[in-house]
Amino acid sequence: MGMFFGVDIGGTEIKFGAFSEAGDLLEKWSAPTDISDMGRKIIPDVARHIRQYTVGKGVREDGVAGIGMGIPGPVDKAGYVRTCVNLRWNGFNPVEELKKEFPDVKIAAGNDANTAALGEYYRGAGKNYDSMMLITLGTGVGGGIIMNGKVLLGAHGLAGEIGHVSAAVPEKEQCSCGNTGCIDQFASATGIVRIMKRLLKERKQDSILRKQEKISAKDVCEAACQGDALAVRCIDICMGALGNGLAYFSHAFDPEVYVIGGGVSGAGEIIISAVKKAYREKMFLIQDGADICLSKLGNDAGMVGACMLVMNGG
Ligand SMILES: [Zn+2]
Repeated sequence: MGMFFGVDIGGTEIKFGAFSEAGDLLEKWSAPTDISDMGRKIIPDVARHIRQYTVGKGVREDGVAGIGMGIPGPVDKAGYVRTCVNLRWNGFNPVEELKKEFPDVKIAAGNDANTAALGEYYRGAGKNYDSMMLITLGTGVGGGIIMNGKVLLGAHGLAGEIGHVSAAVPEKEQCSCGNTGCIDQFASATGIVRIMKRLLKERKQDSILRKQEKISAKDVCEAACQGDALAVRCIDICMGALGNGLAYFSHAFDPEVYVIGGGVSGAGEIIISAVKKAYREKMFLIQDGADICLSKLGNDAGMVGACMLVMNGG
């Protein structure tokens, strides 16, 4: 046995974590992602960073047991990535590439939403549960599903792409996917801003956000936390849409807990209570349903989960 590395490869930044044999985080760092040359420099950069760490710590190469990677796109079981727009990869296998640099090390790769879910499941808010769903509220809405310790990939790698499930809220505007009324249109940072602008336009009610020229999702959350009634209404609509969606998922596969992460979740309790309220209103067949809580690992979830993927398997 030996140490492990978890690597979360994003479009602008690569997060690295060095882990002990037992999977405890020893050190973490990050580096900018060089996507030039169709992303061909990314894997050599990953290898260089890991070597720099091991050489610096006096760890021999046979002291590295595994390297796990999180990729911002679909990854098949063999590690093959058909397309990854953010990294400019087309028909590329990062596992095989990294294998060339570390032939005797166990290497694995998975979709970053799934690795983030694994991170929360093993080391974060999902630690005490058997089944869990992670929902990340960022620019868009993403998700990862863990059932009995395994990532649910689905037949096409689509499982967990919950942003484009209908939120059961009437909506005329079209979503980026071509549908209308997707969860993504409400519960993402983009969705929150969209709904807030709509409320400001359609309602006469005063709001501290009326004076602001540019509004971010963070502004809306902060205004809601300060008790701004229109911003509170906006959060209720947006997180209510997510709560509706979670009620669907409970009826489909009944996870024990929903863990809410991503930038928007930084607003904390105001988000959770609005999601819970809508969720409970839709749950008739069972009394309480799943627990709903905030993520514990935040931005580290993907990097921690990448290590868990190679340690424990997906
Ligand atoms: Zn959509």
